[in-house]
This record gives sequence, C-alpha cells and structure tokens, in this order.
Amino acid sequence: MTQMTFNTKTKVAIIANGKYQSKRLATKLFNTFRDADDFYLTKKNPDIVISIGGDGMLLSAFHMYEKQLDRVRFVGIHTGHLGFYTDYRDFEVDTLLENLYTDKGEKISYPILKVTVTLSNGHQITSRALNEATVKRIEKTMVADVVINDVKFERFRGDGISVSTPTGSTAYNKSLGGAILHPTIEALQLTEISSLNNRVFRTLGSSIIIPKKDKIEIIPKRLGSYVLSIDNKTYTHRNISKIEYKIDNKKISFVSTPSHTSFWERVKDSFIGEWDS
Ligand code: NAD
Repeated sequence: MTQMTFNTKTKVAIIANGKYQSKRLATKLFNTFRDADDFYLTKKNPDIVISIGGDGMLLSAFHMYEKQLDRVRFVGIHTGHLGFYTDYRDFEVDTLLENLYTDKGEKISYPILKVTVTLSNGHQITSRALNEATVKRIEKTMVADVVINDVKFERFRGDGISVSTPTGSTAYNKSLGGAILHPTIEALQLTEISSLNNRVFRTLGSSIIIPKKDKIEIIPKRLGSYVLSIDNKTYTHRNISKIEYKIDNKKISFVSTPSHTSFWERVKDSFIGEWDS
C-alpha cells in the first residue's frame, strides 16, 4: 500500500451498466458527489473511477481508463453477487461513501498484461488485459510455436492459448484448468485450450507460470484468420506473424479500503462456499 497526497478536490467518475439497479445506484452516488465539498464529478481525468455492475463492468471501466493507470484508482460495486474486482455490494454504498470521505489516497495494485500483435506486414497492435488474452483459430486446428524467453518450447496444436494475469487466474484460466495465482505474485500464466496430444503431437499439457521480465511469444504456423480476445472484447486478425505477452510496466490500482477482503476469502466464497469443518 502506498500514500498519495491530494491538494485539490478528488475527481470522481461513475460508470454503470444498463441494469435498473445499477442506474439507480449511479443516480444516488451522482447526487451525493454533486453536493459534496471534497469531490468533483467528471469523466475526464478522474482520480477515482467507481464502476457499478459486476466484474464485466469493471473490465470495461479498466479499458476506458487504461491510458491513465498512473493516476486512476478503481472501486467496484456489485449489483449482483460479490465479484472478484468488486469490493462493495449495492447495499453497502453508505460504507463506501464513509470510506471515500476518510480516504488518504491508499491503493492496492495488481499486475496487468501487455500484448503485442505483429502482423506479417510489420504492423504492430499493442493492448493491455486485466484478466487474460486468448488466441484461437476458428476454421481449422491452430498450429503455433510457443517460445518462452527465447526458448523454442513446443509446437502447439489445438483450439487456442490463453495467457492470464494473476487476478485473471480465477476467470477463464480457471475454467481451462489453470492454477489460481495470488495477485501479489507478479507472473503470467499460459494455459492451453483443448490441445491435441497423441503419439505424434505433443504439448506440455499443464499450465505454465512465467515470472516478471520473462516473455511468451506465440508464432502461428498457418496463414488465415485468428480470433483474439482481450478480456471482454474480441478481434479478428489475418496474417499474424507473432503475438508477444509480458507483464506491463503499469498496474491497475484499487482504492484500498477495509472492505477489500482477503483474496483467499474471495476464492473460497466464489468457488467453495460454506462447509462443515
Ligand atoms: P461476464 O461479465 O458475464 O463475465 C463472465 C463471468 O466471469 C462472470 O461471472 C464474472 O463475474 C466472471 N469473472 C470475470 N472476471 C473474473 C475474475 N477475474 N475472476 C473470477 N471471475 C471473473 O462476461 P464478460 O464481461 O464478457 O467477461 C469477460 C470475462 O469472462 C473474460 O475476461 C473471461 O475471463 C471470462 N470468460 C470465461 C469463460 C469461461 O469461464 N469458460 C469463457 C469466456 C470468458
């Protein structure tokens, strides 16, 4: 956790999904901040972004402000069950307001992923992912070389590959059989999506955790269309010559509050629930 000093009013942006409950809550917060002395409502260059909805809404808020990660801190309010990026439920909004009124600029930060796609004409597209980036080939089996830190590791055949962040490890990565990584571990996780494994074709099979400063490169061996996903967005590219994955030099920061529950508690609440000990 780090300290920040505020000399001026805290600029707050409120982003909500289309659900009735989210819009109602956004109006309540909007009215509260509009009349507050210490806060200033603006979507331009905010200090704090309040996302109302679920994890998907927080992912969208992250992408809206991904170029301002140095200054922005996020807070998530869930209008359904508790999510992974949402510290508050909708009925806890008064607690959130109390915490923001006493806020000293403390933050908790997590690693994100930097993805660079190089097309065969040399054009490069760079994106950031909070959960994961996947690459899949739709028409035929994807064939691609996996290179880890310049080591030509394996030739992959299958549906595709996912590379996730630590906070994304509980999302698609988990469904693919990947490990759950504590978000203070600065590492990326490569997970296979339906790899072909038999006497002829061979991949490692298990997911791989790659430390900070190392890089993963995927080099497609067939021309054609590839579908890339970056969190909740998908893109189709033709003629990809390389995709590179690294931990970004920026992080996502959340407003650090007493409601920011332990990671293991979230994992337990989401996937295990109560049990008789
Ligand atoms: P969405 O908002 O409906 O999210 C799908 C589900 O993933 C929700 O239940 C959400 O709470 C959960 N989720 C999102 N981020 C999470 C995280 N970091 N840890 C644990 N659960 C998380 O749909 P969307 O807006 O399209 O969300 C995109 C995300 O959905 C992707 O980043 C991907 O991780 C996930 N996804 C999962 C699968 C799968 O599990 N088979 C398939 C595709 C996408």
